[in-house]
Amino acid sequence: MADGNEIQRRKPGSVGVVLVAAGRGVRAGEANGPKQYRNLAGRPVIAHALGAFLDHPAIGPLVVVVHPDDRLQARDAVGDAAARLAFVDGGATRQLSVLAGLRALADKGCDTALIHDAARPFADRALLDRVIGAVDADAGAIPALAVVDTLKRGAGGHIAATVARDGLYAAQTPQGFPLAAILAAHEAAAASGRADFTDDASIAEAHGLPVRLVEGSPANVKLTLPGDFTMAETRLAPSLPDVRTGNGYDVHAFEPGDHVTLCGVEIAHGRRLSGHSDADVGLHALTDALLATCGAGDIGTHFPPSDPRWKGAASRIFVEHAAGLVRSRGGRIANADITLICEAPKIGPHRPAMVAALAAMLGIDAGRISVKATTNERLGFIGREEGIAAIATASVVYPGGLPE
Ligand code: MG
Repeated sequence: MADGNEIQRRKPGSVGVVLVAAGRGVRAGEANGPKQYRNLAGRPVIAHALGAFLDHPAIGPLVVVVHPDDRLQARDAVGDAAARLAFVDGGATRQLSVLAGLRALADKGCDTALIHDAARPFADRALLDRVIGAVDADAGAIPALAVVDTLKRGAGGHIAATVARDGLYAAQTPQGFPLAAILAAHEAAAASGRADFTDDASIAEAHGLPVRLVEGSPANVKLTLPGDFTMAETRLAPSLPDVRTGNGYDVHAFEPGDHVTLCGVEIAHGRRLSGHSDADVGLHALTDALLATCGAGDIGTHFPPSDPRWKGAASRIFVEHAAGLVRSRGGRIANADITLICEAPKIGPHRPAMVAALAAMLGIDAGRISVKATTNERLGFIGREEGIAAIATASVVYPGGLPE
């Protein structure tokens, strides 16, 4: 096998990538949609598959070949990376999809093409280095693993023959080639009407382009059957769940008025709390606590007090926005705890209504919510009834960790 240690002579951007994502994923369970867009540990499979390529210094242009029905889904699935990618429509077979991708790569200034299946989410930097390092102007290279199982040819449910496994390898992707040569090989295969090639190396071979073998990676599996997803989730799952805790604190001063709004509940009172929105200190503290669990700034980042849209706004929109952000990052709110600190009004009678309001805002069971109240023993500004303060704590479980 080639050792691929010539990586250092690659110019930045000289390697282009065709990521093949045009399949419909029939075998992995069509009901769940194409497998490359299914979630794996909080991120679509295709986003995992792109990771090592996006980070590699030799790699420039990236072409993603998608089914025409999946154009929007594909852009959504890759997130911010979409700006760096060219999307092209695939053909009726994988072979024709790769050809479409190679044609799109042809005028992008690279001399080497890597062709990779979007359903292989575990290709890593070392694997890419081995493949890229073994490609030159005269030969392609593919990662492959020597077959270790004894091979049987079956017929009618019985063994017909034992096949010698000496010299047999299982081929993986990414497969790398000199771009002009692999494009010519694909064009020739398409022109000949042959559509029975199962990978790109076999097209290169048929066209007379030598292909080197480099060491594949046992982790670099192709997600094919529904059970493959379970195994992949297990591999990506951290040994301990990623649990984040955030806190928040807020205080608002009293001004003339006839009610206060606390934890989403209006309570008749001789004064009101002063603020740009409805001045609900409990919900403001909780919003900060939720945002803190994923490093998303604070309430002022998302809802600047200078913005006239939030004048008199019900603060539940702040909490719902923060909870939505947590969910969009794969988080599950485990619990929320709010302490209101005031001499008056009395909070106890309103606690059940507050818990119910919070459960609705957060979309979690009331049993995961706690609202407590304490006075300040007549000390300080709260003791003098100049305002009300609140502290909040929220815990969120991010099963697959947070996206980078
Ligand atoms: Mg506030």
